[in-house]
Amino acid sequence: TLIDLFGTFGALGDKTAFVNRTGVRRLVVSYREFHDLALRMANLLAQKGVVPGDRVLIWGPNSSWWAVAYWGIVVRGAIAVPVDFMSDSARADSIRNLTNATIVLQSRFKAERMTTAASLLLEDLPYLLEDVQPIGEIASAAPDDTAQLIYTSGTTGTPKGVILSHKNLIANLTQINTQVPIITSRFTFLSLLPLSHMFEQMGGLFTPLYHGAAIVYLRTLKPSAIMDALGEEDIYVIMSVPRLMQLLKTTIERELEEKHLLGLFRSLARLAASFPKEVRRTLFFPVQKKFGRNFTVFVSGGAPLEPEVFTFWSNMGFTVLEGYGLTETSPVLCVNTMERQVAGAVGPPLPGVQVKIEGKEVLARGDNIFPGYYENEQASRDAFTSDGWFRTGDLGEIGPDGWLVIKGREKELIVTGSGVNVYPDELEAVLNKVPGVKESCVIGVERGGGEEVHAVLLLDGSGKAPEAIIGQANKSLDTLQRITGYTIWNEPEFPKTTTLKIKKFAVKEALKKGV
Ligand code: ATP
Repeated sequence: TLIDLFGTFGALGDKTAFVNRTGVRRLVVSYREFHDLALRMANLLAQKGVVPGDRVLIWGPNSSWWAVAYWGIVVRGAIAVPVDFMSDSARADSIRNLTNATIVLQSRFKAERMTTAASLLLEDLPYLLEDVQPIGEIASAAPDDTAQLIYTSGTTGTPKGVILSHKNLIANLTQINTQVPIITSRFTFLSLLPLSHMFEQMGGLFTPLYHGAAIVYLRTLKPSAIMDALGEEDIYVIMSVPRLMQLLKTTIERELEEKHLLGLFRSLARLAASFPKEVRRTLFFPVQKKFGRNFTVFVSGGAPLEPEVFTFWSNMGFTVLEGYGLTETSPVLCVNTMERQVAGAVGPPLPGVQVKIEGKEVLARGDNIFPGYYENEQASRDAFTSDGWFRTGDLGEIGPDGWLVIKGREKELIVTGSGVNVYPDELEAVLNKVPGVKESCVIGVERGGGEEVHAVLLLDGSGKAPEAIIGQANKSLDTLQRITGYTIWNEPEFPKTTTLKIKKFAVKEALKKGV
């Protein structure tokens, strides 16, 4: 259980657990301090009336205080409900209502306050905890007890509350670290993505804590700030999403272009592709140096990684580990290995995880898979087949090597008038490469008897005609997959989740309203 994991923190003594680069000062917290703070946090919760089994919301940005709040909840035997920091107070309040939470641990950065619940500010914890003794009794937990309720990112509609047990979380933690045993206590993590999302929580919090490694927190996704932190903190690995790797790629390319080095760089990268990784790392030393000498691994998940982005980083000698999973699976099902990384494939299933394809849908089984949705029996029933396999809602194929390839979401599959299946992810990858396109979103639009393949384009301001863009994309597409309609997206960005995924349902709604 998480309680057992907590038991290991105290013995790590002066080793650094957290570095906050979130305020004016760089704040370092050791494992011993962290252990002590979490015990005090548990007592503070007890004093505020929280009893084991109560739900407690955490609604704030990543920092060591988020982690202290989380582990304080665990030690009290309560159930953590992480809420996306970017959520507005209406949504946070509705989650508080749905989960009947006793107390809300929130950030003062949220201008609006929830009025209906007791709340504590995460920023006040440093001095509040000074006045509280460490709790005398650590709660006990059984493997099947609920550890947390976590809401899905809502890419496809209303988020659902996913119940995750202690067993689910610990199972995934050990499965991941068996398949990719890359981390030791000497390495440092940079935590950028929201801890309210299972991907960052498992990869960027539980995994380093499991190994006694250090975690650095930043409060920005700005490429320049990220690169500074990578170098200054000697980071080894980051959990990333494809969009972030794309942004960092563009930043580097822009710098090279200013120095008239982009052409040379590209030829060199192509040439180097067949060299061993160490040679590539040496060859691209100037770029590597920007990132700090230790930075080696990008873990990518949450959305499909475009092969072009994969190749850019891997040609330079970085290890790009693409993984796949869902909140419901704690979250990882498959991940590429340290020995082999394949563009476009999400790797073999983790040890103890079974994956199979039934009618194109990816089904999965394993101890990391959730027991059901919170107070939503219908959705819980629909999520499993009659013989207990979890229905991921994703479409995929398993290659002869046993590696999984994700084709897209079942809900987003476009079935054209001529009965052809079109995977929006594949078309978006093509469109995003066409000059003039900043980002694209491909959707099906109902047209008597079938769907039309419709592209929503966010242009990059270079003035390229959309007809020419669509024409160029269509040239590399199968005749039956071609894009037949388009809309220009006039906002500066697509509506996104905090993990930078486009909220397709919101784009569709906007289109219906005539944006
Ligand atoms: P909601 O369930 O609320 O609509 P969501 O599905 O985005 O939101 P998450 O659990 O954050 O919630 O995301 C899981 C989904 O992300 C998967 O079902 C899959 O569609 C997608 N995904 C994750 N990793 C990958 C990957 N490597 N390649 C392609 N898609 C991925």
